[in-house]
Amino acid sequence: MNPFSLQGKVALVSGANTGLGQAMAIALAEAGADVAAVGRTDPADTAQAVRAAGRRFHWVEASLDTTAPVPAIIEAVERELGGIDILVNNAGTIRRNDALDFSEEDWDAVMGVNLKTVFFLSQAVARRLVERKRPGKIVNIASMLSFQGGIRVASYTASKSGLLGLTRLLANEWAAHGINVNAIAPGYFETNNTTALRADEKRQREIVARIPAGRWGVPADLAGAVVFLAAAASDYVHGTVLPVDGGWLAR
Ligand code: NAP
Repeated sequence: MNPFSLQGKVALVSGANTGLGQAMAIALAEAGADVAAVGRTDPADTAQAVRAAGRRFHWVEASLDTTAPVPAIIEAVERELGGIDILVNNAGTIRRNDALDFSEEDWDAVMGVNLKTVFFLSQAVARRLVERKRPGKIVNIASMLSFQGGIRVASYTASKSGLLGLTRLLANEWAAHGINVNAIAPGYFETNNTTALRADEKRQREIVARIPAGRWGVPADLAGAVVFLAAAASDYVHGTVLPVDGGWLAR
């Protein structure tokens, strides 16, 4: 048996149309999983890559700003691909402003997608796993700002720090059901999320200078970590966070 095989598994990945979510969806498919994507933008390129890997793909169109679509998401994936074995909570957003000027709207928008919907989508997936008496894997996408304060991103830091605590709590409650809940903390990656940061040449240089690996991450750098945390190889790994950061946190 290959402990990294996802043959016969169904994975649900949020925000899989681009960036880290797209790379993780493709990595899961290449390891053998059928993939459902949930998000608001058509993941056409991801669909093509998943199918090219020989796996089934289904997109559930939904905005994750609120928890309203959660029941319909679960129902659609079960109908199209079967029960969900793996959930990757990847969709996330960021708003930048000085803390003195930070608006309630920017607070709520980020906390909603990055933390509240993550909890209720995880709860819905876990309830079905428990009902079906099936083991499962939940992988949350944390951040360096799960550990550090950051600057000008109050709601993002609060959401990602909260997500790390939530990962541990859910692991404590759900390990007994055979559900592994863990997180990946990406360092600085080249995606839409960091366009503004990379456009600031001074910040861009400062960041690279502090990364031991000497470069920004590219989305495919997450492939090994997500397959590990989704596969039998991590069956005794609960409530941990795996930084994939080119050494940033070790610095
Ligand atoms: P990205 O390219 O901006 O992707 C974000 C994804 O989340 C997109 O698919 C986006 O959909 C989706 N999303 C955002 N708000 C949504 C909403 N309300 N409803 C549904 N989907 C929504 O950025 P990324 O870097 O790949 O980010 C993926 C995750 O990694 C996020 O949780 C982010 O915080 C985390 N992360 C990124 C880095 C980094 O350096 N890039 C570092 C640490 C953690 P649309 O395309 O439709 O907007």
